[in-house]
Amino acid sequence: AAANATSMRFPRWVRVNTLKTTVADVLARHFSDHKPVRLFEELLSEDMTRKTVYVDEFVPGLLGFPASTELIGHALVADGTLFMQDRASCFPAALLAPPEGAVVVDGTAAPGNKTTHLAAIVGKGGRVLAFEKDPKRAKTLEMMVGKAGAEKIVEVRAGADFLLSDPWSETEKKRLAKVSHILLDPSCSGSGIVERNEYSYIPKTAAPPPAPTSRAGKAKKRKGGEKEETPFVKPLSKKEEEEVAKQAEAEEERLRSLSTFQTRIIKHAMRYPGAHYISYSTCSVHSQENEQVVMAVLSSEVAKQRGWRVQKREETGFRHWPRRGLVEECDGDEEIAGGCVRFDPWADGGIGFFVVLFVRDGSVDGWEG
Ligand code: SAM
Repeated sequence: AAANATSMRFPRWVRVNTLKTTVADVLARHFSDHKPVRLFEELLSEDMTRKTVYVDEFVPGLLGFPASTELIGHALVADGTLFMQDRASCFPAALLAPPEGAVVVDGTAAPGNKTTHLAAIVGKGGRVLAFEKDPKRAKTLEMMVGKAGAEKIVEVRAGADFLLSDPWSETEKKRLAKVSHILLDPSCSGSGIVERNEYSYIPKTAAPPPAPTSRAGKAKKRKGGEKEETPFVKPLSKKEEEEVAKQAEAEEERLRSLSTFQTRIIKHAMRYPGAHYISYSTCSVHSQENEQVVMAVLSSEVAKQRGWRVQKREETGFRHWPRRGLVEECDGDEEIAGGCVRFDPWADGGIGFFVVLFVRDGSVDGWEG
C-alpha cells in the first residue's frame, strides 16, 4: 500500500526492555541508519518511508518509528529486548514512576504490557506483585514475564482477584504492607481502541457515530430524470427509533457498571497501608470511566480519611503534555482536570487513553474502613 498523509500520523512504537539492554545500545547497534528526531511533530512530518527514530520525551525508553518500519518480525522483538507497546499504554508506569527497588502491585495485569514495564523500572532489586483474575489470561501474562526476563522480579498471582486481596491478613501482611505504588488498568469499554491496518489506525468510536435518529436514503430523481445532488435523509421508523433507544440504554448501563467496578477497585487500592501512589488508566474516551470515576473516588470516605488526592500537573513528569482532563467533568475543578492526562488517537499517535495519578502525602496508615 502506498504511503499517505493519514498513515504518517500513526507511528510504530517500541519500548526498550531495560532489563536486557539500554536505549543507547539499541540505537547504536541496531538502528544506526535511522536519523534521530527530537520532536514528535518531526516524526509525524517525516516521509514515512524515511528511516527516522523519535526518542520519546515523556516515556524513558520509548522509541517511535515511521509506520513503514518493519518491526513485527524483528529479532529484538522476538527475544523480548523490545516490546511493541502503544505509546499511550506506556504512560501509566511512566507516570507512576516507582523508584528502583520498590515493591509494587499491578492489580489487573494480563496480558502484561504494563507489568513488564513496571519490572523494568523497579529493576532487579524490586518486586512486582501481578494480580490477574482470569487464569487463561494469566498464562499469557506468565509468558510475557518470561519473555521480558522478569521472572525473578514479577510474582504472577494467577486467578487472584485484586478486590479480595487483604493486606491485613496474617499470611499477606508482611508482603503487602511494603507495597508503595499500585498500578490499576482495569477492564473498560475500550472505546479509545483504534484498529490498525498496514499503515494506519481505524478508529472504532473516535470518529463521530452516525446520527442516531436518521439514515441516508436513496437519491431522489428530479423532474426530467436529472439526479438530485444531495441525498435526502429518511426518518427512522418507530421500530427503528425504539431499537436505537434500547441500544443507547444498554450502552449507558454497561458504562455505569464498568465505572462502579473501576471506582471500587481504586478505593480498594487506597486502603493498602503503605501505598502512597496509585495510577489509574483506561483505554476509554468516555468521561463516565475517566473523570467521573476520579470525582467519585475523591469524594469517598477512604480517600478523605487517608488523604488521597490527584497529583497536580506541575508535580508530574507529564507537566508539558498538552491534553488534560475535561474541566466540565471535574465539577469545574481545573486543578483536578489538570492532573488528568488524556491521549487523542489522531494527534498523539496511538489509542485514545486516560491516566491519572492519585497520591497521599501523610502517613495515616492502618485505616481499614
Ligand atoms: N494492564 C494490562 C496490559 O497493559 O497488558 C491490560 C489490563 S486489561 C485492561 C484488564 C485485566 O484485568 C484483564 O486481564 C482482566 O481479566 C483483569 N481483571 C479484571 N478484574 C480483575 C480483578 N478484580 N482482579 C484481578 N484482575 C482483574
